[in-house]
Amino acid sequence: MSYYPARVTVDLGAIRENVATLVRRTPAAVMAVVKADAYGHGLVPVARNAVAAGASWLGTAQITEALALRRAGLECRILTWLYAPGAPLDDCVGADIDLSVPALWALDEVRAAARAVGRPARVHLKVDTGMGRNGIGVDEFPQLLNAALAAEHAGEIRVVGVWSHLACADHPEHPANTAQLDAFKNAVRLAEEAGASLEVRHIANSAATLLSPEFHFDLVRPGLATYGLSPAPNAGSATDFELRPALTLSADLVLVKDVPAGQGVSYDLTYTTYSDTTLGVVPLGYGDGIPRHASNNARVRADDREVPLAGRVCMDQFVIDLGPGATARAGDEVVLFGPGAPTAQDWAEAAGTISYEIVTRLGARLPRVYVNDVPNVSE
Ligand SMILES: *Cc1c(COP(=O)(O)O)cnc(C)c1O
Repeated sequence: MSYYPARVTVDLGAIRENVATLVRRTPAAVMAVVKADAYGHGLVPVARNAVAAGASWLGTAQITEALALRRAGLECRILTWLYAPGAPLDDCVGADIDLSVPALWALDEVRAAARAVGRPARVHLKVDTGMGRNGIGVDEFPQLLNAALAAEHAGEIRVVGVWSHLACADHPEHPANTAQLDAFKNAVRLAEEAGASLEVRHIANSAATLLSPEFHFDLVRPGLATYGLSPAPNAGSATDFELRPALTLSADLVLVKDVPAGQGVSYDLTYTTYSDTTLGVVPLGYGDGIPRHASNNARVRADDREVPLAGRVCMDQFVIDLGPGATARAGDEVVLFGPGAPTAQDWAEAAGTISYEIVTRLGARLPRVYVNDVPNVSE
Protein backbone atom coordinates (compact mmCIF):
# COMPACT_ATOMS: atom_id res chain seq x y z
CA MET A 1 0.00 0.00 0.00
CA SER A 2 1.55 3.25 -1.04
CA TYR A 3 -1.43 5.62 -0.76
CA TYR A 4 -0.44 9.23 -0.16
CA PRO A 5 -2.65 12.26 -0.83
CA ALA A 6 0.27 14.21 -2.33
CA ARG A 7 3.07 13.52 -4.79
CA VAL A 8 6.23 14.71 -6.49
CA THR A 9 5.94 14.32 -10.25
CA VAL A 10 9.27 14.40 -12.08
CA ASP A 11 9.24 15.05 -15.82
CA LEU A 12 12.31 13.17 -16.98
CA GLY A 13 11.86 14.71 -20.42
CA ALA A 14 12.64 18.07 -18.84
CA ILE A 15 15.82 16.61 -17.32
CA ARG A 16 16.91 15.43 -20.78
CA GLU A 17 16.09 18.79 -22.38
CA ASN A 18 18.01 20.68 -19.71
CA VAL A 19 21.05 18.45 -20.03
CA ALA A 20 20.92 18.76 -23.83
CA THR A 21 20.75 22.56 -23.44
CA LEU A 22 23.80 22.52 -21.16
CA VAL A 23 25.69 20.22 -23.52
CA ARG A 24 24.97 22.65 -26.38
CA ARG A 25 26.20 25.62 -24.38
CA THR A 26 29.72 24.34 -23.76
CA PRO A 27 32.49 22.47 -25.57
CA ALA A 28 33.41 20.94 -22.18
CA ALA A 29 32.16 17.57 -20.99
CA VAL A 30 29.12 17.74 -18.70
CA MET A 31 28.91 16.13 -15.26
CA ALA A 32 25.32 16.00 -14.02
CA VAL A 33 25.48 16.50 -10.26
CA VAL A 34 22.98 14.09 -8.71
CA LYS A 35 23.82 14.38 -5.02
CA ALA A 36 21.08 14.50 -2.36
CA ASP A 37 18.84 12.10 -4.29
CA ALA A 38 19.28 14.25 -7.40
CA TYR A 39 18.19 17.38 -5.50
CA GLY A 40 15.08 15.52 -4.35
CA HIS A 41 14.16 14.36 -7.87
CA GLY A 42 15.29 10.73 -7.56
CA LEU A 43 18.90 9.55 -8.00
CA VAL A 44 18.72 6.73 -10.52
CA PRO A 45 15.93 7.92 -12.85
CA VAL A 46 17.57 11.34 -13.14
CA ALA A 47 21.02 9.84 -13.67
CA ARG A 48 19.81 7.56 -16.47
CA ASN A 49 18.07 10.39 -18.27
CA ALA A 50 20.98 12.80 -17.82
CA VAL A 51 23.32 10.25 -19.38
CA ALA A 52 20.86 9.54 -22.19
CA ALA A 53 20.87 13.28 -22.98
CA GLY A 54 24.64 13.60 -23.17
CA ALA A 55 26.08 13.90 -19.66
CA SER A 56 29.30 11.87 -19.71
CA TRP A 57 29.96 12.16 -15.98
CA LEU A 58 27.84 11.93 -12.83
CA GLY A 59 28.81 13.59 -9.56
CA THR A 60 27.74 12.81 -6.01
CA ALA A 61 28.76 14.19 -2.65
CA GLN A 62 28.30 10.90 -0.82
CA ILE A 63 30.05 7.61 -1.55
CA THR A 64 26.78 5.72 -0.94
CA GLU A 65 25.16 7.64 -3.79
CA ALA A 66 28.03 6.88 -6.16
CA LEU A 67 27.92 3.17 -5.33
CA ALA A 68 24.14 3.15 -5.80
CA LEU A 69 24.61 4.53 -9.33
CA ARG A 70 27.03 1.72 -10.22
CA ARG A 71 24.70 -0.88 -8.71
CA ALA A 72 21.90 0.53 -10.87
CA GLY A 73 24.02 -0.22 -13.93
CA LEU A 74 25.28 3.26 -14.82
CA GLU A 75 28.61 2.82 -16.55
CA CYS A 76 29.76 6.41 -17.14
CA ARG A 77 32.47 8.17 -15.16
CA ILE A 78 31.40 8.97 -11.60
CA LEU A 79 33.16 11.35 -9.21
CA THR A 80 32.44 11.40 -5.47
CA TRP A 81 33.94 13.91 -3.09
CA LEU A 82 32.76 13.93 0.53
CA TYR A 83 34.11 11.39 2.98
CA ALA A 84 35.81 11.20 6.35
CA PRO A 85 38.74 9.03 7.46
CA GLY A 86 37.76 5.36 7.48
CA ALA A 87 35.39 5.59 4.48
CA PRO A 88 34.99 2.47 2.30
CA LEU A 89 37.27 3.79 -0.46
CA ASP A 90 38.11 0.22 -1.51
CA ASP A 91 34.48 -0.18 -2.59
CA CYS A 92 34.84 2.95 -4.73
CA VAL A 93 38.08 1.80 -6.34
CA GLY A 94 36.53 -1.62 -6.94
CA ALA A 95 33.52 0.05 -8.58
CA ASP A 96 35.76 2.24 -10.78
CA ILE A 97 34.57 5.46 -9.14
CA ASP A 98 36.82 8.55 -9.29
CA LEU A 99 37.71 10.02 -5.90
CA SER A 100 38.35 13.57 -4.79
CA VAL A 101 41.49 14.04 -2.70
CA PRO A 102 41.34 17.22 -0.60
CA ALA A 103 44.10 16.42 1.95
CA LEU A 104 47.15 14.27 2.63
CA TRP A 105 45.20 11.93 4.90
CA ALA A 106 42.78 11.28 2.04
CA LEU A 107 45.65 10.52 -0.34
CA ASP A 108 47.02 7.98 2.15
CA GLU A 109 43.61 6.30 2.42
CA VAL A 110 43.10 6.21 -1.35
CA ARG A 111 46.55 4.64 -1.81
CA ALA A 112 45.75 2.00 0.81
CA ALA A 113 42.43 1.25 -0.88
CA ALA A 114 44.11 0.92 -4.28
CA ARG A 115 46.70 -1.49 -2.89
CA ALA A 116 43.94 -3.53 -1.23
CA VAL A 117 41.92 -3.76 -4.43
CA GLY A 118 44.96 -4.24 -6.65
CA ARG A 119 44.21 -1.56 -9.18
CA PRO A 120 45.14 2.13 -9.41
CA ALA A 121 42.60 4.66 -8.13
CA ARG A 122 41.68 7.68 -10.26
CA VAL A 123 41.94 10.86 -8.22
CA HIS A 124 41.04 14.52 -8.63
CA LEU A 125 43.09 16.83 -6.41
CA LYS A 126 40.74 19.32 -4.79
CA VAL A 127 42.20 22.75 -4.20
CA ASP A 128 40.59 25.48 -2.13
CA THR A 129 41.03 28.48 -4.44
CA GLY A 130 39.26 30.85 -2.08
CA MET A 131 35.92 29.46 -0.98
CA GLY A 132 37.34 28.37 2.36
CA ARG A 133 35.41 25.10 2.35
CA ASN A 134 36.68 21.74 1.10
CA GLY A 135 40.02 21.31 -0.66
CA ILE A 136 43.65 21.78 0.25
CA GLY A 137 44.84 25.36 0.60
CA VAL A 138 46.95 26.78 -2.23
CA ASP A 139 50.01 26.95 0.03
CA GLU A 140 49.80 23.24 0.88
CA PHE A 141 48.81 22.18 -2.64
CA PRO A 142 52.41 21.60 -3.87
CA GLN A 143 52.99 19.15 -1.02
CA LEU A 144 49.83 17.18 -1.85
CA LEU A 145 50.71 17.30 -5.55
CA ASN A 146 54.18 15.89 -4.99
CA ALA A 147 52.86 13.11 -2.77
CA ALA A 148 50.18 12.30 -5.33
CA LEU A 149 52.66 12.15 -8.21
CA ALA A 150 54.92 9.90 -6.16
CA ALA A 151 51.94 7.58 -5.59
CA GLU A 152 51.26 7.72 -9.33
CA HIS A 153 54.84 6.65 -10.08
CA ALA A 154 54.37 3.80 -7.60
CA GLY A 155 51.35 2.68 -9.65
CA GLU A 156 48.87 3.25 -6.83
CA ILE A 157 46.87 6.11 -8.28
CA ARG A 158 46.36 8.15 -11.43
CA VAL A 159 46.07 11.89 -11.01
CA VAL A 160 43.37 12.55 -13.61
CA GLY A 161 42.01 15.86 -12.38
CA VAL A 162 42.57 19.11 -10.56
CA TRP A 163 39.38 20.73 -9.37
CA SER A 164 37.87 23.43 -7.24
CA HIS A 165 34.55 25.08 -6.40
CA LEU A 166 33.37 28.69 -6.70
CA ALA A 167 31.93 30.76 -3.85
CA CYS A 168 30.26 33.52 -5.89
CA ALA A 169 29.53 32.12 -9.34
CA ASP A 170 25.95 33.44 -9.18
CA HIS A 171 27.41 36.98 -9.12
CA PRO A 172 29.85 36.89 -12.06
CA GLU A 173 31.03 40.45 -11.42
CA HIS A 174 32.17 39.59 -7.87
CA PRO A 175 35.96 40.02 -7.60
CA ALA A 176 36.27 36.68 -5.77
CA ASN A 177 35.65 34.95 -9.11
CA THR A 178 38.74 36.30 -10.84
CA ALA A 179 40.82 35.61 -7.73
CA GLN A 180 39.60 32.01 -7.71
CA LEU A 181 40.20 31.67 -11.45
CA ASP A 182 43.80 32.87 -11.08
CA ALA A 183 44.42 30.52 -8.14
CA PHE A 184 42.91 27.62 -10.07
CA LYS A 185 44.98 28.25 -13.20
CA ASN A 186 48.04 28.44 -11.01
CA ALA A 187 47.29 25.07 -9.38
CA VAL A 188 46.71 23.50 -12.79
CA ARG A 189 49.98 24.95 -14.10
CA LEU A 190 51.89 23.61 -11.08
CA ALA A 191 50.41 20.16 -11.62
CA GLU A 192 51.25 20.13 -15.32
CA GLU A 193 54.76 21.45 -14.79
CA ALA A 194 55.31 18.72 -12.20
CA GLY A 195 54.44 16.14 -14.85
CA ALA A 196 50.76 15.40 -14.18
CA SER A 197 48.91 14.44 -17.36
CA LEU A 198 45.51 15.79 -16.41
CA GLU A 199 42.43 14.54 -18.15
CA VAL A 200 40.03 17.09 -16.63
CA ARG A 201 40.34 20.51 -15.02
CA HIS A 202 37.00 21.60 -13.51
CA ILE A 203 35.60 24.41 -11.39
CA ALA A 204 32.20 25.42 -12.89
CA ASN A 205 28.88 24.79 -11.13
CA SER A 206 25.52 25.64 -12.78
CA ALA A 207 25.95 29.40 -12.45
CA ALA A 208 29.43 29.40 -13.99
CA THR A 209 28.26 26.99 -16.69
CA LEU A 210 25.46 29.41 -17.66
CA LEU A 211 27.19 32.74 -17.07
CA SER A 212 30.97 32.41 -17.34
CA PRO A 213 32.47 30.38 -20.23
CA GLU A 214 36.02 31.17 -19.10
CA PHE A 215 35.42 28.81 -16.15
CA HIS A 216 34.42 25.80 -18.26
CA PHE A 217 37.86 24.17 -18.83
CA ASP A 218 37.38 20.45 -19.71
CA LEU A 219 34.37 19.61 -17.58
CA VAL A 220 31.44 21.52 -16.05
CA ARG A 221 29.45 20.32 -13.02
CA PRO A 222 25.88 21.64 -13.22
CA GLY A 223 23.52 20.52 -10.49
CA LEU A 224 20.56 22.88 -10.17
CA ALA A 225 20.40 23.72 -13.89
CA THR A 226 19.94 20.01 -14.67
CA TYR A 227 16.66 20.23 -12.79
CA GLY A 228 15.54 23.30 -14.72
CA LEU A 229 15.94 25.87 -11.96
CA SER A 230 17.91 29.10 -12.13
CA PRO A 231 21.09 29.11 -10.01
CA ALA A 232 21.27 32.90 -10.29
CA PRO A 233 17.76 34.39 -10.13
CA ASN A 234 19.35 37.85 -10.02
CA ALA A 235 20.92 37.21 -13.45
CA GLY A 236 18.08 35.35 -15.14
CA SER A 237 15.07 33.12 -14.69
CA ALA A 238 14.94 29.47 -15.70
CA THR A 239 13.15 30.54 -18.88
CA ASP A 240 15.87 33.10 -19.64
CA PHE A 241 18.41 30.26 -19.46
CA GLU A 242 16.19 28.00 -21.62
CA LEU A 243 15.69 25.61 -18.73
CA ARG A 244 12.44 23.92 -17.73
CA PRO A 245 11.68 22.87 -14.14
CA ALA A 246 11.29 19.10 -13.95
CA LEU A 247 9.47 18.83 -10.64
CA THR A 248 5.81 19.36 -9.80
CA LEU A 249 4.59 19.15 -6.21
CA SER A 250 0.87 18.57 -5.84
CA ALA A 251 -1.64 17.36 -3.27
CA ASP A 252 -5.33 16.49 -3.02
CA LEU A 253 -7.48 18.78 -0.88
CA VAL A 254 -8.62 16.81 2.15
CA LEU A 255 -11.26 19.34 3.24
CA VAL A 256 -12.99 22.43 1.89
CA LYS A 257 -15.26 24.46 4.15
CA ASP A 258 -16.98 27.82 4.37
CA VAL A 259 -16.05 30.03 7.33
CA PRO A 260 -17.19 33.48 8.43
CA ALA A 261 -15.15 36.68 8.44
CA GLY A 262 -12.91 36.92 11.48
CA GLN A 263 -12.03 33.21 11.63
CA GLY A 264 -8.49 32.62 12.96
CA VAL A 265 -6.55 29.91 11.11
CA SER A 266 -3.92 27.33 12.15
CA TYR A 267 -1.46 27.40 15.09
CA ASP A 268 -1.27 30.69 16.94
CA LEU A 269 -4.12 32.01 14.76
CA THR A 270 -1.69 34.18 12.79
CA TYR A 271 -4.21 34.51 9.93
CA THR A 272 -7.71 35.90 10.23
CA THR A 273 -10.24 35.75 7.40
CA TYR A 274 -11.18 39.25 6.24
CA SER A 275 -14.57 38.22 4.82
CA ASP A 276 -16.81 35.21 4.63
CA THR A 277 -14.65 32.80 2.66
CA THR A 278 -13.79 29.21 1.84
CA LEU A 279 -10.77 27.44 3.32
CA GLY A 280 -9.01 24.39 1.88
CA VAL A 281 -6.83 21.96 3.83
CA VAL A 282 -3.71 20.70 1.99
CA PRO A 283 -2.14 17.47 3.34
CA LEU A 284 1.48 18.62 3.18
CA GLY A 285 3.58 20.13 5.94
CA TYR A 286 7.09 20.58 7.20
CA GLY A 287 7.21 16.80 7.71
CA ASP A 288 7.19 16.67 3.91
CA GLY A 289 9.76 19.45 3.56
CA ILE A 290 7.36 22.36 3.15
CA PRO A 291 9.16 25.32 4.75
CA ARG A 292 7.38 26.68 7.82
CA HIS A 293 8.86 30.05 6.92
CA ALA A 294 6.47 30.12 3.94
CA SER A 295 3.54 30.46 6.37
CA ASN A 296 1.14 33.25 5.34
CA ASN A 297 3.39 34.04 2.39
CA ALA A 298 3.57 31.40 -0.36
CA ARG A 299 0.82 30.78 -2.92
CA VAL A 300 -0.50 27.64 -4.56
CA ARG A 301 -2.54 26.93 -7.69
CA ALA A 302 -6.04 25.84 -6.66
CA ASP A 303 -9.52 26.28 -8.08
CA ASP A 304 -7.96 27.55 -11.35
CA ARG A 305 -6.12 30.45 -9.77
CA GLU A 306 -3.35 31.29 -7.34
CA VAL A 307 -4.42 31.51 -3.72
CA PRO A 308 -2.47 32.28 -0.53
CA LEU A 309 -1.47 30.10 2.36
CA ALA A 310 -3.54 30.98 5.42
CA GLY A 311 -1.69 30.71 8.72
CA ARG A 312 1.16 28.51 9.86
CA VAL A 313 2.44 25.52 7.94
CA CYS A 314 2.02 22.55 10.33
CA MET A 315 3.86 19.22 10.36
CA ASP A 316 1.47 17.45 8.00
CA GLN A 317 -0.91 20.08 6.66
CA PHE A 318 -1.52 23.70 5.87
CA VAL A 319 -4.58 25.78 5.03
CA ILE A 320 -5.25 27.90 1.95
CA ASP A 321 -7.80 30.71 1.61
CA LEU A 322 -9.75 29.89 -1.54
CA GLY A 323 -11.70 33.15 -1.33
CA PRO A 324 -15.43 33.81 -1.46
CA GLY A 325 -17.31 31.88 -4.12
CA ALA A 326 -14.70 29.13 -4.51
CA THR A 327 -15.86 26.01 -6.31
CA ALA A 328 -13.02 23.69 -5.20
CA ARG A 329 -14.01 20.45 -3.51
CA ALA A 330 -12.29 17.85 -1.38
CA GLY A 331 -10.19 15.67 -3.68
CA ASP A 332 -9.33 18.46 -6.10
CA GLU A 333 -5.64 18.70 -6.91
CA VAL A 334 -3.68 21.68 -5.66
CA VAL A 335 -0.28 22.48 -7.23
CA LEU A 336 2.29 24.04 -4.90
CA PHE A 337 4.81 24.45 -7.69
CA GLY A 338 5.03 23.24 -11.26
CA PRO A 339 3.93 24.22 -14.78
CA GLY A 340 1.15 26.83 -14.74
CA ALA A 341 1.56 27.28 -10.99
CA PRO A 342 4.00 29.16 -8.76
CA THR A 343 7.61 28.01 -9.10
CA ALA A 344 10.09 26.54 -6.63
CA GLN A 345 11.81 29.94 -6.94
CA ASP A 346 8.56 31.65 -5.83
CA TRP A 347 8.46 29.36 -2.80
CA ALA A 348 12.10 30.08 -2.07
CA GLU A 349 11.38 33.81 -2.07
CA ALA A 350 8.30 33.31 0.13
CA ALA A 351 10.37 31.33 2.63
CA GLY A 352 13.55 33.42 2.53
CA THR A 353 15.71 30.67 1.03
CA ILE A 354 16.96 29.36 -2.33
CA SER A 355 15.23 27.00 -4.75
CA TYR A 356 17.96 24.42 -4.07
CA GLU A 357 16.59 23.99 -0.55
CA ILE A 358 12.94 23.90 -1.61
CA VAL A 359 13.37 20.88 -3.91
CA THR A 360 16.11 19.08 -1.96
CA ARG A 361 14.20 19.08 1.33
CA LEU A 362 11.09 17.38 -0.07
CA GLY A 363 10.50 14.48 2.27
CA ALA A 364 11.41 10.89 1.60
CA ARG A 365 7.83 9.94 2.57
CA LEU A 366 6.44 11.76 -0.49
CA PRO A 367 5.92 9.39 -3.41
CA ARG A 368 7.81 10.19 -6.62
CA VAL A 369 6.00 9.68 -9.91
CA TYR A 370 8.14 9.62 -13.05
CA VAL A 371 6.85 10.68 -16.45
CA ASN A 372 8.52 10.76 -19.89
CA ASP A 373 11.26 8.29 -18.96
CA VAL A 374 13.71 7.29 -21.69
CA PRO A 375 12.49 4.24 -23.59
CA ASN A 376 14.55 1.06 -23.51
CA VAL A 377 16.86 1.93 -20.67
CA SER A 378 18.72 -1.18 -19.63
CA GLU A 379 18.07 -2.39 -16.11
C1 LIG B 1 26.62 20.75 -5.52
C2 LIG B 1 27.87 20.90 -6.25
C3 LIG B 1 27.88 21.26 -7.61
C4 LIG B 1 26.63 21.67 -8.34
O1 LIG B 1 26.23 22.95 -7.90
P1 LIG B 1 25.01 23.71 -8.59
O2 LIG B 1 25.08 25.08 -8.05
O3 LIG B 1 23.77 22.99 -8.17
O4 LIG B 1 25.23 23.63 -10.04
C5 LIG B 1 29.08 21.28 -8.26
N1 LIG B 1 30.22 20.96 -7.63
C6 LIG B 1 30.27 20.64 -6.32
C7 LIG B 1 31.56 20.33 -5.65
C8 LIG B 1 29.09 20.61 -5.58
O5 LIG B 1 29.14 20.30 -4.28
